Amino acid sequence: MKRGQIKSARFCAVALLVLFSCEGKALADYVAGRHYFGRNDYIEYIAGNAPVILAVPHGGALTPAEIPNRTWGTLATDRNTDKLARAFVEAFHTATGRYPHVILCRLKRIKLDANRAIDEAAQGSAWAEQAWQEWHDFIDAAKDAAVKQAGSGLFIDLHGHAHANQRLELGYCISGSLLKLCDVEIANYKNRSSLRALTEITDTGFGELLRGPHSFGALMAARGFPCVPSPEYPDAGGQPYFSGGYNTRRHAGRADGAISGFQLECNFKGVRDTEENRARAAMALVESVTLYLAIHYSVEVDRLTEEVLTAAAAN
Ligand SMILES: [Zn+2]
Repeated sequence: MKRGQIKSARFCAVALLVLFSCEGKALADYVAGRHYFGRNDYIEYIAGNAPVILAVPHGGALTPAEIPNRTWGTLATDRNTDKLARAFVEAFHTATGRYPHVILCRLKRIKLDANRAIDEAAQGSAWAEQAWQEWHDFIDAAKDAAVKQAGSGLFIDLHGHAHANQRLELGYCISGSLLKLCDVEIANYKNRSSLRALTEITDTGFGELLRGPHSFGALMAARGFPCVPSPEYPDAGGQPYFSGGYNTRRHAGRADGAISGFQLECNFKGVRDTEENRARAAMALVESVTLYLAIHYSVEVDRLTEEVLTAAAAN
């Protein structure tokens, strides 16, 4: 197929997804800035109108009796990541006039782990399984909207880590040991990365995308939030490091997908501990995300207009 045919085939596929996503709820039914909920408010979706999707799987606090406690796997909550995400929505809207898509799991992790395959995530509870499905349906709806609007999108799976080293960890589905490779060698692994789709639309090389001067790590570090990987810390230096989990693998970098992204693991102190620090971190994230989209996706978020949306739909 020629490029134009591929594009229109992709659009038809997207249009079908749009029609049937989320149990028949068409994308047009979601209004940007409004909050939508799954059964019993376990999953919350803040609909967006910019090609940015933020998922927050471990910030929930609900412990309904109808769902038994999980008995195996990781049970720790990522404290205040839900509050950081809500601060991000507010800062993004103030800065750009638009909304990112944000999906929050409001169940505590002991009830549902929204960053695992369903068996480990829900451990047999039908209500937890339903919430897990709604979680992914909302993310899929957000991704469909981003692709329809901009042809691609940035997915971020937001977490909090408890590692001693107080820095952000960006997981691109590239292990800590692979990060030690030079840029020429690491390029061989780009197709397994959550940035795979982005490598096809940007002129920036894969190693540069991970830790060059316009990498996400560089943009956040320039705003006072040290990151690995970044120009200063190109690899994890033998320290514990999260390279990206289930959501990042499932929702970014797929061979058949247009969405790229990463797992963002935040240290506690100075990032998510106080309201003031969360506001500061949220603003740095907004600046970094909008710059990243402009540099690598050729998307100017504050210039996205309804005409752009219409043009994409008519393409
Ligand atoms: Zn987590």
